[in-house]
Amino acid sequence: MAGIAEVLLALERLEQDEELTYEQLLVLETSLVLNGLNFHDQHRAMRLDIDNMTYEELLALEERMGTVSTALPEETLSECLKTSIYQSTPMEDATTNLEGGKDDIKCSICQEDYVVGDEMGRLQCEHGYHMSCIHQWLSMKNWCPICKASASPSPPSS
Ligand SMILES: [Zn+2]
Ligand SMILES: [Zn+2]
Repeated sequence: MAGIAEVLLALERLEQDEELTYEQLLVLETSLVLNGLNFHDQHRAMRLDIDNMTYEELLALEERMGTVSTALPEETLSECLKTSIYQSTPMEDATTNLEGGKDDIKCSICQEDYVVGDEMGRLQCEHGYHMSCIHQWLSMKNWCPICKASASPSPPSS
């Protein structure tokens, strides 16, 4: 639903842009050109795109926006991961800790056993994975693959 609202908002904003006088556009364009950016042309192209979109295309756009909003931005992603290097666990530990420590032996994402020296990424919920595996996962989902706990340090409330 938030996606549709975003599309509507974008459409509204683009419509408002058409209310701009030629003079205002010129000022806007000049300031953009001065910044060395040609946003105005990109903007026009984008407006044409949205105007010509079919219902299906809008739906696809909404879906894409939805996907984006559940994924974590790169900065947040690394913030909520504790990085460490995997070190072999003593045998006694592995046996006494069989119940709770299982996910410290192999990665639940790729199902591979950890190898000493592997780069590990640990989430807030203390579940650990290969750094590359959890990184890839978090770029699509913002929750822990094992316990579904939110991976972000704080809920996105802003
Ligand atoms: Zn893995
Ligand atoms: Zn977890």
